[in-house]
Amino acid sequence: MANSEINEASLQSCLKELIDPVFQKPLSASGFLKGANVGEDGGVSIQIELPVPSYPLQSELSELIENAVRTAFPDCEGLKIEYSINIKGKNSGGRLGLNVKNVIAVGAGKGGVGKSTVAASLAFALKKYGARVGLVDADVYGPSIPHLVGTSEKPVAQEFQGKDGQTLTRIIPVEADGLKVMSMAFFVEPEQAVIWRGPMLHKAISQFLQDTEWGELDYLVIDMPPGTGDVSLTLSQLLDLAGAVVVCSPQQVALLDAVKAVQMFRQVKIPVLGIVENMSGDIFGRGGAQTKGEELQIPFLGEIPMNAEIREKSDVGNISQLVEADSESQACLLKVAENTAIEIARTLIENPIRPPLEIL
Ligand code: ADP
Repeated sequence: MANSEINEASLQSCLKELIDPVFQKPLSASGFLKGANVGEDGGVSIQIELPVPSYPLQSELSELIENAVRTAFPDCEGLKIEYSINIKGKNSGGRLGLNVKNVIAVGAGKGGVGKSTVAASLAFALKKYGARVGLVDADVYGPSIPHLVGTSEKPVAQEFQGKDGQTLTRIIPVEADGLKVMSMAFFVEPEQAVIWRGPMLHKAISQFLQDTEWGELDYLVIDMPPGTGDVSLTLSQLLDLAGAVVVCSPQQVALLDAVKAVQMFRQVKIPVLGIVENMSGDIFGRGGAQTKGEELQIPFLGEIPMNAEIREKSDVGNISQLVEADSESQACLLKVAENTAIEIARTLIENPIRPPLEIL
């Protein structure tokens, strides 16, 4: 196509078949390519819209675009690539009418593998990337999120004027280091929840999610109770979840529990986004989760080493610092969040949501 006239159409056709290095899809199919123009001075500008808050191979993508443009139009004057972010979402609000693009469940086959730690750091990491994030503690049997994020505040109720003039009472989530947080611990004593059976749990969780004033969110991260399927079933009936992140430690027994967690999510029709290996290192070994993920055909979202700083910071309610400040674990915690967002966007690129067909 060398030396053809440079204009919007010829630029589009030279770029649309390029394969982006992360999603491995042509730019036209992934919706990345938002615009391509030639200015009055002959300079070319390309607009790329990314569906994730953090895209790890941006310079590779820029190089690919530059090479394609320079090969097709050797005389091209200046070239500018402008990036913007528009987080893709399933609009997971479902029957609860929440204004949330993606609801992510964080689960584990058993307690003690660091599920709540991963859920909280995932929420803070997505926020650090610039996304609007909320964190829900639905681990009714052992709600630990308020402790991990260091809040002893209680949420307050506020009255709003509804569309039809009715007064609505909404709960304002607690803010912890800039993150909107809600926990079952704010409302019930743990001993009380332990005796709850399915229907009571269902009612409590739906009310607790529905009556909260979340505002607009890109991601709502839910820390699930370990093992049992009750809460997962409830959530899958109420919300169109983006998917579940399964946390496990590298020990064999924890891996077997992780397989159960994967099966449980699949049973209640919540897609599994991937598996995270937490506490990997000398004591428990490492790499088991990745192998298990491959066997189950589930993406591996990353590993978080066993690290004293993680335990220390979470014990004193400072988990946001692991992500915000330079910590030994910062890079791997950010990586897990980046990969999670990528897997969500991948599902949406591969199965685009079509607007409902209107039959007149
Ligand atoms: P779960 O939610 O699975 O029951 P928690 O997130 O409450 O587990 O973590 C259990 C304990 O392990 C906590 O004291 C936490 O600080 C610690 N912990 C979690 N992940 C790590 C890690 N990667 N390195 C060191 N300690 C960790």
